[in-house]
Amino acid sequence: MDKKLGVYICTGCGIVEALDIEKLEKKVPPKIKIRKTHPIVCSPEGVGLIKEDIASEGVNTVVIAACSRRVLYDVFDFGPAIVERVNLREGVIWSHKPQDPDAEEPDEFIQEMAEDYLRMGLAEAERILPAEPYQPEEPIDKRIMVLGGGVTGLSAALDVAKAGYEATVIEKAAKVGGFAAKLRKQTPSSYPYEDLQEPVIEQIIKEAQAHPRVEIRTGIEVARIAGAPGLFDVTFKEPGSKSKWDIPAPVEEVEGAEAPPQPPMADKATPEDPANILAKDPEAERFGAIILATGWKAWELPKETEAPKEGEEPEAKEPSYDHLGLEKLANVVTNVALEEMAAQGKILRPSDGKPATSVAFVQCPGQGSDEDFPYAAAITSTVALKQAKYVREDGGPDARAYIFYQHMRTLGQNEYFYKSAQQDEGIFLTKGDVVSVSENGDGTLVLEANDTLLGENIKVSVDMVVLGTGMVPTTKDDPVLNLAYRQGPGFLDLDLFDGYPDSNFICFPYETRRTGIYVAGCVRRAMSIQECREDAAGTALKAIQCIESANRGVSVHPRSGDMTFPDFFFQRCTQCKRCTEECPFGALDDDEKGTPLPNQTRCRRCGTCMGACPERIVNFADYSIDSIGSMVKAMDVPEEDEKPRVLVLACENDAYPAFDMVGIKGLSYSPFVRIIPVRCLGSMNVVWIKDALSKGIDGILLIGCKFGDDYQCHFIKGSELASIRMDKIGEALLSLALEKERVKQVEIAIDEYDKIPGIIKEFMDTIEEVGPNPFKGF
Ligand code: SF4
Ligand code: SF4
Repeated sequence: MDKKLGVYICTGCGIVEALDIEKLEKKVPPKIKIRKTHPIVCSPEGVGLIKEDIASEGVNTVVIAACSRRVLYDVFDFGPAIVERVNLREGVIWSHKPQDPDAEEPDEFIQEMAEDYLRMGLAEAERILPAEPYQPEEPIDKRIMVLGGGVTGLSAALDVAKAGYEATVIEKAAKVGGFAAKLRKQTPSSYPYEDLQEPVIEQIIKEAQAHPRVEIRTGIEVARIAGAPGLFDVTFKEPGSKSKWDIPAPVEEVEGAEAPPQPPMADKATPEDPANILAKDPEAERFGAIILATGWKAWELPKETEAPKEGEEPEAKEPSYDHLGLEKLANVVTNVALEEMAAQGKILRPSDGKPATSVAFVQCPGQGSDEDFPYAAAITSTVALKQAKYVREDGGPDARAYIFYQHMRTLGQNEYFYKSAQQDEGIFLTKGDVVSVSENGDGTLVLEANDTLLGENIKVSVDMVVLGTGMVPTTKDDPVLNLAYRQGPGFLDLDLFDGYPDSNFICFPYETRRTGIYVAGCVRRAMSIQECREDAAGTALKAIQCIESANRGVSVHPRSGDMTFPDFFFQRCTQCKRCTEECPFGALDDDEKGTPLPNQTRCRRCGTCMGACPERIVNFADYSIDSIGSMVKAMDVPEEDEKPRVLVLACENDAYPAFDMVGIKGLSYSPFVRIIPVRCLGSMNVVWIKDALSKGIDGILLIGCKFGDDYQCHFIKGSELASIRMDKIGEALLSLALEKERVKQVEIAIDEYDKIPGIIKEFMDTIEEVGPNPFKGF
């Protein structure tokens, strides 16, 4: 592309008061003829000036030195011209105070910073290319498959249909409705949030069955899903039946015997193997996006584990539930069993069929522990309140319900529901530690609880005990989708998330780690019917957005509308498979030699493959090894300067906005730091670090999202991958006789901007202590 740059420096928002604009403008190389200053570049006149230069002067690359790239991006959208933003406002003048506030001249360090950023911006602008959307090879299918015909699945299908798209509901059972069809009543979803409500499921079923754009298929399940958003190829089978796509389970090795043959790994499979992810199934049906709404399964009492053999390590001990009598005492049941009983008529004691007029609800296993039952959540508290009301409805004025909890969680308007139960004289609520449940001979049960709110240990005699057990996601220990993906049939690392198909628990509730597959209802987290319906609407919109984005060849999420995609220079690929293995979204398959096979509609444009590639052959039009490398190289590193120079590679999702917030809030940090935003720390290629160090930059700080159990990375594991690469950087530094303290990674959340000045100071102090980079001046 023949670049014609135009540079526009804004003097508004305090910029002209803090900087020598004439001096700054002189840093623009003479070959760039179009360079202008304007008092308010974002004003209609300022924008008009740029548009005029694009139209009459042929400017095709616009460099705007003004505010952060995170603001006014729609105002400064001059597509198809390339736009580069130089952050003078938040990044320089708002976040740095002059050494002498009374000085008439601009501060020299702040001026240097602005000049550096302008040079870096110009270097990047020279190297980036206009983005062009990816062209799907086959037409995108716009039908949405909804897995699960319960309240969530049917609601999602209806929402899809009402938006003008076609939905196909796949239900394993012979009838739709799921557990919602087994309820006697629902918790209230409208004012005054006190009275139980008739179940809505029948109405939803009727509406879905009658809608011309909703197709419902029962008694089938998925055998395999191959392909990518817009191009998913789905094979079905009868529930529980065998399929040619079933991958045999690994065979257990027997000590002393020859190792048994194991099923092939995806990348070693022959064309006939079920593990061959590239095989096309001629019987498959095509869909554009998938909504996973397979709901939950009831928690089951853990089976007793075998005693360890001699010399074996004992397995981690499961908490004990023995003292509660489930599966031992007939009149101890779970909340699921009670609901089914209540829906069929009256609440009766299982031991003798007599009406149960006093029932205790146990919300936590107790015996000194503060824990809830596994997979219990706020909904478990609300269900206990609802079932307590059943007891009162069925048993007459003398009926009694006792609720023992450690945590009574009634979120939002459910607080009114809780209050209504509190005000019922037949419902007793107390925090308490249940220590035992026993039978007293006539079928009645005696429950003992310590540390109750009454300030004493109590015993109650009841007809039944109901345990408030949790809702286990159907994705726990079951791939459900049987994906023909290199990364396996389910979602990776589900154990870390207790089996929930999570992608980012804070920011993106409906996304899974597989693009185009959205998750709603109780498979995502335990929730009420009302919440399931809201979730359904959310996923319906996400699925539609995905299909339309795939159709336009742009990224769906979280870089919605991004037209760039990873471009591989395959001639230099060494088939090392790092990119395929590190891609957090399973976007890359590979052929038998290990050459990556991109699925662009699965790709989220995180750049992790770019960071992973040792050959540096993965790049995006507007974000490449060269574009960031050129910014690093454009940084001015004085040979003789007592102040260390530090490069910060900041994740654009949390860290870079946090830096902007430092400026907005009037905080400040060292003016010897230069920040380059990156798509994700996972996209950080170690060559940038090596370039920076060999240039003489004294220290490099990588600032990204938190990782681990409470990870916040927009791309799931980018930040974590960067930390793994950091270990390797440490070794490389030592081999160059550089101190490992020169490169450091820090995790930060977007709202922790106030920590930034301290983080920078601490790092600057460390680098000052370590001393100047010996490569300075070479
Ligand atoms: S690593 Fe990121 S950018 Fe690369 S293929 Fe995977 S999703 Fe796309
Ligand atoms: S990381 Fe680079 S060299 Fe390795 S397989 Fe991927 S593209 Fe090829």
